[in-house]
Amino acid sequence: MSRPLSHPALAAADPELAALVDAEERLQTETLRLIPSENYVSTAVLEATGTVLQNKYSEGYAGRRYYEGQQNIDRVERLAADRAKAVFGVEHANVQPYSGSPANLAVYLAFAEPGDTVMGMALPMGGHLTHGWGVSATGKWFRGVQYGVRADTARIDFDEVRDLALKERPKLIFCGGTAVPRTIDFAAFAEIAREVDAVLVADIAHIAGLVAGGAHPSPVPHADVISTTTHKTLRGPRGAMLMSREQYAKPLDKAVFPGLQGGPHNHTTAAVAVALHEAAQPSFRDYAHAVVANAKALAEQLLARGFDLVSGGTDNHLILMDLTPKEVPGKIAAKALDRAGIVVNYNTVPFDTRKPFDPSGIRIGTPSLTSRGLGTEHMPQVADWITRGVEAAGAGDEDALGTVRAEVAELMAAHPAPGLVADPS
Ligand SMILES: *Cc1c(COP(=O)(O)O)cnc(C)c1O
Repeated sequence: MSRPLSHPALAAADPELAALVDAEERLQTETLRLIPSENYVSTAVLEATGTVLQNKYSEGYAGRRYYEGQQNIDRVERLAADRAKAVFGVEHANVQPYSGSPANLAVYLAFAEPGDTVMGMALPMGGHLTHGWGVSATGKWFRGVQYGVRADTARIDFDEVRDLALKERPKLIFCGGTAVPRTIDFAAFAEIAREVDAVLVADIAHIAGLVAGGAHPSPVPHADVISTTTHKTLRGPRGAMLMSREQYAKPLDKAVFPGLQGGPHNHTTAAVAVALHEAAQPSFRDYAHAVVANAKALAEQLLARGFDLVSGGTDNHLILMDLTPKEVPGKIAAKALDRAGIVVNYNTVPFDTRKPFDPSGIRIGTPSLTSRGLGTEHMPQVADWITRGVEAAGAGDEDALGTVRAEVAELMAAHPAPGLVADPS
């Protein structure tokens, strides 16, 4: 199963490390990966990340660098930025942020001073650490105030958001999150942000691919700034982008460099450009819609098997399962599913009565399995495996987990993942 010829120099120079890479490739081949922030990139994206562009320093921006020899790098970065502008319909794109967290930190640097009030969704309600949560630099250096979801619907209560904004007068309002199974109402957030004169930041890290493919409403023109990772539903390399109208271009660019970062990762920029080229193809629209169709089908199948889903289902790629009624804690379920070849993460659910490192839920999603070509017809089987895995976790039945693992591996073998050893492309 290993691919000894795919990195012959690495295998010769450092067999120990090469063996770990091969083992990881095997794991990604044989398991059903349901972590909603993960995906499989194409072989083309993978190749771009392994190019000699990584040897080059290029602090500054295209045409205004602090190093010579930028003939090719400037064109790579312009290509990536132009493609981002075309795919998302924005006036400005900065493709240099190293990842989603530093991209968000750059937004603070651009529009706020230490100690200023900022507003975001609370982490245990589905928000991200970098939206002002206490343990994050954004919560230590700024005054984070947090909104949540309603206890009865698990959806955002815009009256609560508006009241909080009017009372606290935040400089920045973040919308979007990491465990939000429902459509983000960018227009409703924009109305509140305008009322309190705050900069609205739409963090579409999770849903960027759905937005690009027309399977989730776009934050354009509602948000002042759009922050995104490139490696989740967008199916690019690990990286991030900041996008905006022209009026915010300067402060954002200055915040990324020289405010926060040094040289951009040019090999990553190249791979972002490739991913955006792929996202501009008609087939990517099909992909984005298939991700959502699969998630909705999977949610229906899980509900039919007696699972409790936060907010009762999903509008996007993500499902948050509250396992309280099954009497299996999230961490125990996640670890058992891992032994069954199904990779998920344990997660808090809104108003969780358990601790964050041992919460009540698991978070799953369909971007990766859709990249392997699985469709709605496979979702009853996937729901069945999850059910058997969670039940086996409760009963401590290791044999049942082993049986599921073998069945999963068989289906995965029939659906090679992009970029992996069995990928025919
Ligand atoms: C993943 C994520 C981030 C952070 O991205 P990293 O690349 O892990 O730093 C930021 N915001 C949201 C909403 C995310 O889902």
